[in-house]
Amino acid sequence: MFDLLNDCPGLAPWLEQTAELSGYLWDKGWAERNAGNLSIDVTDIITEQSACAADPLCRDLSFAYPQLAGRYFIVTGTGHRFRDLAHDAPHHACVLHLSDDGRVFHLVWGGEDDPDFRPTSEFPAHLRVHEFLRQRSAAERVVLHTHPTELIALTHLPEYQNEAALNRALWGAHPEVKVTVPRGVGLVPYTAPGTEALALATVAALRRDHPAAVWAMHGIVAVAREVMEAFDLVDTLNKAAQIILLRRGAGVASPGLNDAQLAELVRLFHLKD
Ligand SMILES: [Zn+2]
Repeated sequence: MFDLLNDCPGLAPWLEQTAELSGYLWDKGWAERNAGNLSIDVTDIITEQSACAADPLCRDLSFAYPQLAGRYFIVTGTGHRFRDLAHDAPHHACVLHLSDDGRVFHLVWGGEDDPDFRPTSEFPAHLRVHEFLRQRSAAERVVLHTHPTELIALTHLPEYQNEAALNRALWGAHPEVKVTVPRGVGLVPYTAPGTEALALATVAALRRDHPAAVWAMHGIVAVAREVMEAFDLVDTLNKAAQIILLRRGAGVASPGLNDAQLAELVRLFHLKD
């Protein structure tokens, strides 16, 4: 294994942001036990090449991802806790390299002291999302999955189990939501974790020009150019969910901002909704 951090100095800031984000997710209560995962496409930062066949940690993927062949990703480990990653990235995250046919990967950094280290169990969803981003030549390279408590709670309520109603409620909670997420979020009906079906449903939601897909009764996947941009997106959405639930708890039945107030935001901030 070559000295990746030494050879690719551009990688360190991404790993530092990964650790910083991990601490925030734990502090927010969105990363219980080993919940949540993160991947970052760092292909343009890696300047060294390494041979897959030479690495004993070369592993098969369940599916082939030919459009991601040869790409490098920072990925959090399955079974690893964000609260540990916050101060020890080399043991709880890795940089991995997909083979030239997109069927296997091997570690080029991290996963230290664990011969069985594997990327997150939601890696299939991450790879499908990265595949989608590359198809679009998108600037987004960060894919974050976490469990924002109040946003999940909202998806348990029957009236928010459709995308339009969920977005209308989130926009109505606070003007920041319409300004930050003018096209709203995608809503993925409950689908078992770690499955290809969930991965494909997530991509379908993002394809509708949403920066995030809410997984009903589970969590959210957000895509962004920067690590903290992904965190801020989830934070804004979850704040809105908190407000909606507080309002309901106070016995107030209101949509919050009305249609005219939302239209005013579109006009003032030149939003594309
Ligand atoms: Zn999850």
